[in-house]
Amino acid sequence: MLDPRKIDFGMMLMALEDRSYESSSWIHPETGAIEFCSVDDDPEEFAERGLVQIEPLDGSESYEIIEGFVSGVRHRGARERLEDAIRGRGAFRRFRDIVYADPELGPRWNAFRDARMRDAALDWLVDRGLVTAEAAEAARAAGAAPEIDQIRAVLLDIDGVLTVSWEALPGAVEAYDALVAAGLEVALVTNTTSRTRAAIGDALRGARFAVGDEQIVTAPIATAAYLAEHHPGARCLLLSSGDVAADLAGVHLAGPEESEIDVVLVGGGGPELDYAALNRAFGALRDGAALVAMHRSMYWRTDAGLQLDAGAFVAALEAAAGVEAVVVGKPARGLFEAALATLGAGAAEAVMVGDDLDSDVLAAQDLGLTGVLVRTGKFRPEALERSAGLPDAVLDSVADLPAWLRGPEG
Ligand SMILES: [Mg+2]
Repeated sequence: MLDPRKIDFGMMLMALEDRSYESSSWIHPETGAIEFCSVDDDPEEFAERGLVQIEPLDGSESYEIIEGFVSGVRHRGARERLEDAIRGRGAFRRFRDIVYADPELGPRWNAFRDARMRDAALDWLVDRGLVTAEAAEAARAAGAAPEIDQIRAVLLDIDGVLTVSWEALPGAVEAYDALVAAGLEVALVTNTTSRTRAAIGDALRGARFAVGDEQIVTAPIATAAYLAEHHPGARCLLLSSGDVAADLAGVHLAGPEESEIDVVLVGGGGPELDYAALNRAFGALRDGAALVAMHRSMYWRTDAGLQLDAGAFVAALEAAAGVEAVVVGKPARGLFEAALATLGAGAAEAVMVGDDLDSDVLAAQDLGLTGVLVRTGKFRPEALERSAGLPDAVLDSVADLPAWLRGPEG
């Protein structure tokens, strides 16, 4: 019996894919050596030496591997393009053209195909009695097929996904624990400016989520990262209600007498955004300061109804000073980028889960993350029906996320 560890699977895969009539491939039943028999060689000599001919996979088996790959592509747009491409004549070439033109799909397809071909090679060896089923199983376990999607990081919106009014949603704590147990890196992302990272950490731990403060990325945290990169050392005039200064580590906040302003920084709406503050900001913008907004929400909901938020003041400053604000929080890219940087993950390795189709899900998808919408919190079916963009997945709640990430076989 042959030890699968002795087999050069690279050579074996070439043999399985070689469908030419002029040549054939042979494997030595004890050493696992693979030899190619060209038009100039006599195949009978190979048979007499005890070698076993490797029959290439037929076209339908190759097609099944492609179909398997396509059905596992989670980005809906990409999957639909591939499904169209693999119908009818010229399917293989169209498929390869699309896959290899995409910097992410190309390497994923190569890894997927190699894993499936390796499985096919092991099946073939077991069928011929060259390798025992046990040895094949051990070889499969050692060279486990890579996941179709190499998701290793999860970004979770907090309000409406994990909690409502800081109470855990049903199954959310268990889902969070399952993600961590599965070895995924988890960050919690929120546009909020009304609570500090530490206060949010306390509130989440109070709701039984075993999170660390460093996993929480708020709009002020992301804004501090943005300022450090794009306006290092800038003197910032802060217009915000709430306790945001604690999370603006390293940011120079201008005092009341300071006249040289590099950046007007707008946080959350509230009584602090009065005429004097807005007029001072207007003057700074007229003198050339940049306008940076932590988010541009127009209002938020409280028990007393809708309340005017900072987005309205950002719009007023833009109109009056003739400038355009850079926005950091969702749906802008800054918050997602800060969260990915925290986890050390690339966009293609991450999934974003939210209850807001536009700000959480589609915005993340635009950056290359996988986007998952949950039917909790502010979710409304009409938003999904009217939307031009579609999430990669819609789940009833975050409780379904661990199973969805494990995939259909999990
Ligand atoms: Mg939300």
